[in-house]
Amino acid sequence: MAKKEGSTKKKWWWTSLLLPVVAGLIVEVFSDVEVLSTLWGLVKTIGTTPIPLWLAILLVVGAVGAVFGWVWFMRWLHEVDVPEHYSFTKLRFLDVDWEWEWRGGGIVNPIMLCPMCSNQLYLKADTNREYNQWTKCENCDFGTGFGMTAEELAIRVPNEVQRLVRTGEYKKRLGSN
Ligand SMILES: [Zn+2]
Repeated sequence: MAKKEGSTKKKWWWTSLLLPVVAGLIVEVFSDVEVLSTLWGLVKTIGTTPIPLWLAILLVVGAVGAVFGWVWFMRWLHEVDVPEHYSFTKLRFLDVDWEWEWRGGGIVNPIMLCPMCSNQLYLKADTNREYNQWTKCENCDFGTGFGMTAEELAIRVPNEVQRLVRTGEYKKRLGSN
């Protein structure tokens, strides 16, 4: 589950606020039921008619329950909405481990980790060669060369992730590394 999606969460809140309003307006416009005046009549009745204590408690409990129910329902809708492959956030590729987040169908913030000790790795470059990217772990001395430029590497990793998703192969890699 991708919980880091701020924009989706915002959308989610707007939907939970807007949906009752829109539903009310549709009923108001397309049916004989006058939502606004009915609500207003209800408010006036509650304000002027003394109601028994048990009914007041029941109304409050019911209202709180309805709000919680609505929030849970929207949360459930939101979770159903998250694509299955968003749980795929790790891969061993080109001899190192990669981790990333999903946003808008693409991978973001990929980081490179040491396959031996999980220390974060950084690209280094030989200045005298073009396909020069390599890395070395400062914690355990693991090292490897990529034989490509940084630009190529920045394309190869998301490409491989998307290929695994497209073919469904990612499911086999989910628990494996
Ligand atoms: Zn290491």
